[in-house]
Amino acid sequence: MIDKSVKEACEMIKKSNNTLVLTGAGISTESGIPDFRSPNTGLWEKIDPMEALSTSILLNRPEKFYKKGFKMLLSMSDAKPNKAHIALANMEEMGIIKAVITQNIDNLHQKAGSKYVLEVHGNTRTGSCMMCGKKVDLKILEQKNQNGEIPPKCNSCNGILRPDVVMFGDQLPEDFNTAWNIVNKCELLIVVGSSLTIAPVSYLPQMAPRVIIINLGETSFDRYADVVIKGKAGKVLTKILDELRKEV
Ligand code: NAD
Repeated sequence: MIDKSVKEACEMIKKSNNTLVLTGAGISTESGIPDFRSPNTGLWEKIDPMEALSTSILLNRPEKFYKKGFKMLLSMSDAKPNKAHIALANMEEMGIIKAVITQNIDNLHQKAGSKYVLEVHGNTRTGSCMMCGKKVDLKILEQKNQNGEIPPKCNSCNGILRPDVVMFGDQLPEDFNTAWNIVNKCELLIVVGSSLTIAPVSYLPQMAPRVIIINLGETSFDRYADVVIKGKAGKVLTKILDELRKEV
């Protein structure tokens, strides 16, 4: 027996020839990475991410950035994908979804096997020089930080190295423009684990003709969505995948 809303979502997915997924921090809480806004567990309750992860702190108070914000970024590196990431990777392989657009920087979609992933808030694999643009492994920044080189400097031009993560005050990377263009042409967008509060990503659902939301808490788009499923991403996406597999 499956829930009515899961059934409705499956019907919508079956009818669509161009389905995309937009994910947020909530999809990774079951992998042990706290999101921003969940009551009691969200990072917002412990630190102010707007301060810990801001370009102004990175440039003006690098010691503070490397003590708090950078540690938070590194803490994601050992996490493993959960059932939700794996279900989405399977759905891509089966041709059910075309791409995952993620606000996350934890690399878990790629670890689960998703091939087409747009990282609209950057990633925690690399850093780059703010002067010459040279890319380096984020581990280089970690090593330099451990050796007391704060801020870490580029070996080629001595410019400041920074993580390739979008921080408060930064522009979004090219992946966001690509996401904007593909959402414009999609038939269905499935939003998973995002409160949809951070602009401009929060505008993407407005451009999709049909929207399914899978989220534990409320989102800013619930009242406009076609189907809203309140539940844990791992459980709901596994149910949806099981249902869709019956049809194949
Ligand atoms: P958010 O914290 O604003 O919202 C997360 C939402 O997910 C909440 O509404 C919550 O109810 C829901 N949720 C929590 N656990 C869930 C689960 N198991 N199943 C389904 N829903 C669940 O996150 P956001 O909208 O992504 O915005 C926060 C910003 O911070 C984004 O840029 C995000 O990428 C970044 N961030 C990323 C990570 C990460 O990479 N894992 C972690 C924290 C924050």
